Amino acid sequence: MNETNNTDKPVGAAPPKSTLHLKRPVEQGTVRQSFSHGRSKAVVVEKVKRRVLGPGEAAPVAAPAKPAISMVPARPAQATAVPAKPASSAAPPPKTGVVLPTLTAEQREARARALLDARVREEEDRKRQSGEAEARRERESRERIEREAAEARKREEELRRAQEANFRRQSEEEARRRLAGGEPAPGPSVPRKPLPSGAIPPAPAIARAATGEEEARVPRRPILAPLVPQKVLVPTPRPARGADQRNRGRLTVANATSIEEERTRSVASFRRRTQRLKGHGAQDQKEKIAREIVLPEAITIQELANRMSERSVDVIKLLMRQGRMVTLTDVLDADTAELIAEEMGHKVKRVAESDVEEGLFDRPDEEGAPVPRPPIVTIMGHVDHGKTSLLDAIRHANVVAGEAGGITQHIGAYQVVAPGGQTITFIDTPGHAAFTAMRARGAKVTDIVVLVVAADDGVMPQTIEAIRHAKAAKAPIIVAVNKIDKPEANPQRVMQELLQHDVQVEAFGGDTLAVEVSATKQTNLDKLLEAIALQAELLDLVADPERSAEGTVIEARLDRGRGPVATVLVQRGTLRVGALVVAGSHWGRVRALLNDKGEAVEAAGPSMPVEVLGFSGAPEAGDRVAVVETEARAREIAEYRERQRREKAAARGPAVRTSLSDMMSNLKAAGHKELPIVLKGDVQGSVEAISAALEKLGNEEVLARVIHSGVGGVTESDVTLAEASKAVIIGFNVRAHKEARDLAEQGGIEIRYYNIIYNLVDDVKAALSGMLSPTLRETMLGNAQILELFHISKVGTVAGCRVTDGVVQRGANVRLIRDNVVVHEGKLSTLKRFKDEVAQVQAGQECGMAFENYQDMRAGDVIECYTVEEIRRTL
Ligand code: GDP
Repeated sequence: MNETNNTDKPVGAAPPKSTLHLKRPVEQGTVRQSFSHGRSKAVVVEKVKRRVLGPGEAAPVAAPAKPAISMVPARPAQATAVPAKPASSAAPPPKTGVVLPTLTAEQREARARALLDARVREEEDRKRQSGEAEARRERESRERIEREAAEARKREEELRRAQEANFRRQSEEEARRRLAGGEPAPGPSVPRKPLPSGAIPPAPAIARAATGEEEARVPRRPILAPLVPQKVLVPTPRPARGADQRNRGRLTVANATSIEEERTRSVASFRRRTQRLKGHGAQDQKEKIAREIVLPEAITIQELANRMSERSVDVIKLLMRQGRMVTLTDVLDADTAELIAEEMGHKVKRVAESDVEEGLFDRPDEEGAPVPRPPIVTIMGHVDHGKTSLLDAIRHANVVAGEAGGITQHIGAYQVVAPGGQTITFIDTPGHAAFTAMRARGAKVTDIVVLVVAADDGVMPQTIEAIRHAKAAKAPIIVAVNKIDKPEANPQRVMQELLQHDVQVEAFGGDTLAVEVSATKQTNLDKLLEAIALQAELLDLVADPERSAEGTVIEARLDRGRGPVATVLVQRGTLRVGALVVAGSHWGRVRALLNDKGEAVEAAGPSMPVEVLGFSGAPEAGDRVAVVETEARAREIAEYRERQRREKAAARGPAVRTSLSDMMSNLKAAGHKELPIVLKGDVQGSVEAISAALEKLGNEEVLARVIHSGVGGVTESDVTLAEASKAVIIGFNVRAHKEARDLAEQGGIEIRYYNIIYNLVDDVKAALSGMLSPTLRETMLGNAQILELFHISKVGTVAGCRVTDGVVQRGANVRLIRDNVVVHEGKLSTLKRFKDEVAQVQAGQECGMAFENYQDMRAGDVIECYTVEEIRRTL
C-alpha cells in the first residue's frame, strides 16, 4: 500500500465519520473563527469541485479552496500548509506511469503532493474543530458558574446594603439623641452590628465633636480600608452631613454607587446654602447703600443700572412691573430714570447735556501768584468817525517807533507799547462787530473801550450804542475826540453831548478820560496810549500765566496753505504749542503759534493775541478757547457744540431772516411800532431827502426810524448795526461790499437796493402797513400729452410726450393733470429731445420729460407747463 493509495482511500471511500467529502460536487463545512477579544463565530466554508481530468481509474481531483494549489510548485505550499506532523511531512517519491499518461513525472508528483496536503489539512481541520467545540463547552460552563457566583454576590451585597442603611439610620438617631441630651461624643468603639457576610470587618469608629458646628467637620475613617474577599467596597455609615462633604472629592466604587443620591443632593443644597448666606446677604446690604446718581437728559438702562450699582435685570423688572417692556439698550428719559433710581432708594442729581462744558471755562486760578497783564482795548464809535484810521495810526506809529521796517500783518489784534513802557493789546476790528459778536457769545474780552467821536460830527446813533455796549460790559470808556485837525472840529460840543449819555469826561467833572486826537495827523496818539495805560493801572488787571490757557477767538479764517487759522486772544494762563484746544465746535492740537508780527512763538501768555494753527475747522469770532487734557474730552465738547449749533440753525430756519415783510409781522407780534432802517445813499442830498420822506411815513401805530444814514456803500459795520438793532438796510444807488453782503447773508439781514425814491418810500410804506407781499403771476406756457412711459434706471420715470400747444420749457413749473384733476405740481427735472437735453420744445414735437421728485405719471396724462412771476406790489 503506497502513499498515494493511502492518500486516495479516505477521499474516494468517503468514510462515514468524515464531515468533509471530496466526492461531493460542493463540499461544505464550518470553521470556528476566534477573535482576539474572546469572541468566536462559526464560518461556513465551501469547496467547489473541479472538473474531472480523465476517464478510468484516475481519481477526480478536487482542487482545494486555494486555486494556486494544483498548478504551483508544491514545495512552498507544503512547507506552509502542512504543520509539523511526521506522517505527512515525509513526501513520498513519485510512482511512474499509473495515473495520467499525459502528465509528466513532475506534474504527477505535484499532484500527489497536493492530494496529500489536502488530506492532511482536512485532518487538521477536523481535529481543530473538535478541539474548539471542547473549548467552547468548557468556556460556557465556566461562564455559567461565574454568572451564578456573581448573582450570589449581588444578592449578598444588596442585603448588606440594606443592613448598612439600617445601621446608619440607627446611628444617626443615636447621634441626634445624644446631641439633644448633651451627652459627650462616644469614643471610637461604637458597638456595631456585624454584617451578615461576615467578611466585612467592623467599621472604624465615628469620631464626633461634642456639639455645635464642629460636628460637621468630624474626621472620617478611610473609606477604602476594609476590603472583603470579593473585592466589594463597603460604604461607611455616615454619622453627620459634614462628613460626606469632606469625602465628596473622592470617587470610589462605593461613592459612585451607594451614596450617589445623597451626594448630588448635598451639592445642590450646599450651593443653595452658600447663596443664601452670601448672595442674599450681600444683596440686602447693597440696597442699603443710597448712591447719588448723576442723571443726564437721557440714559440707557444699562448705564443707569451701572450708575446705581444695581443689576440691570432688576431695573428691567421694575419697568416691566410698570408695564414697560424694555431691553438693556433702551434709552430712558431723565424723569423715568429718576423714578426708578428713587424707587431703588438712590438720590438723583439731574444734569444737563451742557454739563460737558462744565469746568471748561472760568476755572478758578490755582494758588499761583497772578501777575499784571496788558489791557485789552476795543475801539468803538460811529461809522466814519475814524476808528480804522485811529487803529492804523496807532499801529503804524508804534511799528515805526519800534522796529523800523517791520512787517506787520493783520491778525485781528495787535500789541503796542505805551510811552510808559506798558504793553497794550488792541483788538484790530473796527466797529462793534467783534464786540457785539463776542458779547453775544458771552465772552468778555475787552477791558477798556476807546470811544471814537468825530469832533466835527458829534455824538451819533452808533456812538450812543457803543456807549450802551460798553456800559453793559462794564468796561470803562476812554473818549478819543477825533479829527481835531479839521477846522470845523468842536471837541467841547462833543464832550457836552456825551454828558447826555452818562459819559462825564474829566473836564466836566467826571472820571472818564478824554483825549483829543487826530488819526490822520497822528496827533496826541501818545496821550491816548498813556490814558489807556493809566486806566489799566486803575483796573488792576492781573492773570495767572501758569494755569491752563483760556482765551477768545478774535478772528478765524480758512487759509489755503495753512488750513484753519484762528486769532486767539489768550486771557488767562499760557497757551503752548502742542496743547489740545477746543473752540466752538472745533478742536485741535496747536501746531504753531504766530504773534502779531508773524513770528512763530512757543507760548502765548495772558492778553497776547496769537494765530493758532491746528484747529479742525475755523471757529467763529467770539468763540471761547480752552485747553483740555484729553482728545476724548475735546471731541466730546466739540461734538456737543456742533449739535447745539445744528439745533439752533434748524430752529432758526429761514423764517427768522429779517426782511421787510416778516419784520413787520414780527414787530406787530412783539408790539413794536418802529421800523428801524439803516440807509445808505450815493449823495448826502438824496440820503437826507429819503430820511425825511421815511420819517414822515407811518401813523400813530407805526413809524419808520432811520437809525443810521450815510453816504457810501453798505459796509460791514452797517450790517452789524442792522443786526444789532434788527434793522433793514436800504441802499439807494449804492451797493454792499462783498464782506458786508456775506455778513448780511450770514446774519439773515435783508439789504434792499433802490434807485427811485418813490419806490423806496412806497415799499417802506407797504411794509409799514404790513401789506407788502409780492404778487405771484402765473403765465401759461403750453401743454403736453404723455404718450408712453420709460423707466430709466438712474433718471427714474421719463414720460414720452408730444407737446400739443404752446411750448414746454426746462425748469418751468408743471402740473400733471389726469382726467382734468391736478395730481401733481412741481418742476421739470429733465426735458429731452431725442438724446439731447433741450431748453424748450415747441408744439407738435415729441420730447421726454421727467419731474423732480415725482414718478407716478401715466400714459394719457396732460402736463401743463407754466412760469410764475413775482410782482412786487407798490402802493
Ligand atoms: P470808521 O468807519 O470809523 O472806521 O472811520 P474810518 O477810519 O474809515 O474814517 C472815515 C473817514 O474819516 C476817512 O475818510 C478818514 O480819512 C477820515 N478820518 C479819520 N480820522 C481822521 C482825522 O483825524 N482827521 C481827518 N481830517 N480825517 C480823518
